[in-house]
Amino acid sequence: MSNQNLGLETQAIRMQLERTQYLEHSVPLYLTSSFIFEDAEDMRASFAEEKERNIYSRFSNPNTSEFVEKICLMEGAEDGYAFATGMAAVYSTFAVLLNSGDHIVSASSVFGSTHTLFTKYFPKWNITTSYFDVNKPEMIENFIQPNTKILYAESPTNPAVDILDLELLGKIAKKHNLILIIDNCFATPYIQNPIQFGADLVIHSATKLIDGQGRVLGGVTVGRYDLIREIYLFSRNTGPALSPFNAWVLSKSLETLPVRIERHCENALKVAEFLENHPSVASVKYPFLKSHPQYEVAKKQMKLGGNIVAFEIKGGIESGRKFLDKIKLCSLSANLGDTRSIVTHPASTTHSKLTEQERLTVSITDGLVRVSVGLETVQDVINDLKQALE
Ligand SMILES: *Cc1c(COP(=O)(O)O)cnc(C)c1O
Repeated sequence: MSNQNLGLETQAIRMQLERTQYLEHSVPLYLTSSFIFEDAEDMRASFAEEKERNIYSRFSNPNTSEFVEKICLMEGAEDGYAFATGMAAVYSTFAVLLNSGDHIVSASSVFGSTHTLFTKYFPKWNITTSYFDVNKPEMIENFIQPNTKILYAESPTNPAVDILDLELLGKIAKKHNLILIIDNCFATPYIQNPIQFGADLVIHSATKLIDGQGRVLGGVTVGRYDLIREIYLFSRNTGPALSPFNAWVLSKSLETLPVRIERHCENALKVAEFLENHPSVASVKYPFLKSHPQYEVAKKQMKLGGNIVAFEIKGGIESGRKFLDKIKLCSLSANLGDTRSIVTHPASTTHSKLTEQERLTVSITDGLVRVSVGLETVQDVINDLKQALE
């Protein structure tokens, strides 16, 4: 359903699959692995793709289709495919588009497992990657080679909350005929729509803010019809599909995404402002704080600042560890984008095996703390951070 006279929220909420004989109000869960055919001709025509219909839930299912249609609507995308996890989306998207000998130009700080794909697995197929510093986007063109096929980035980045100028990336990709892929996980389709700035494909880990309640894993890739068609055919044969149950949960989550994100961002801005004035904090990074180095770019491409706040605690690794130990209300968890606020200190936990120099190449300083601000009463979150900083 696409009705230009209705707002996006209305469209996403009111999108309705065909009702069953029970005239249910809310979309039911279609927990079925396969679908039946009327007769031999129906079966032939379905497999020949002469009609659009469900055959087998590895290919499509009413619940996964509903989820994908809603994301397409919110991202302004032509088509999409839903995956079991965000990483299944990232892997499958690259695997089908790249051939042996191809080259990727990627931002230096990308999600850890994506980085592992580039460094450990893709070289097995003679696919190589060059990395540009997210704070020096003017250098990107220096890394482009004749065999470069994909330009890849996340914005805001994890965990340092740097911002990349999507319009600039779009122009570079167009000029050099590259496929621009943006992992839009930290922004969500409500805050930022990379296709508007020239992205060909947009990837989400739906596990994070799209579910928003720490329940299910999921992923999705949306964008250009011709590329999604390739991704669909690859996935139909390799099997990374999203389960109907998780799709059903995620579709419901999308109905409340705008209101949840509004509150997440309102709380995150308050947390960021509190931290900025605290004597134990050396610096704070939040896209909608005027002190953020890419504040103007953030304002241009984002509706709100997101729910992730990064700050530098004075005293390095030891202070970071002590801070985590004193946290009472917030959770210590590797996840993000939950109703519950989550605190991490990458240098002493997720990235402790790297040397200080290696950590710096992915923007992780010793005192960096990442807060995923949840939906609790914001003063309680601030009080928790305050007592842990003392
Ligand atoms: C979590 C995350 C992923 C991976 O998603 P999963 O659902 O955990 O597989 C990819 N990109 C970013 C930016 C993420 O935060």
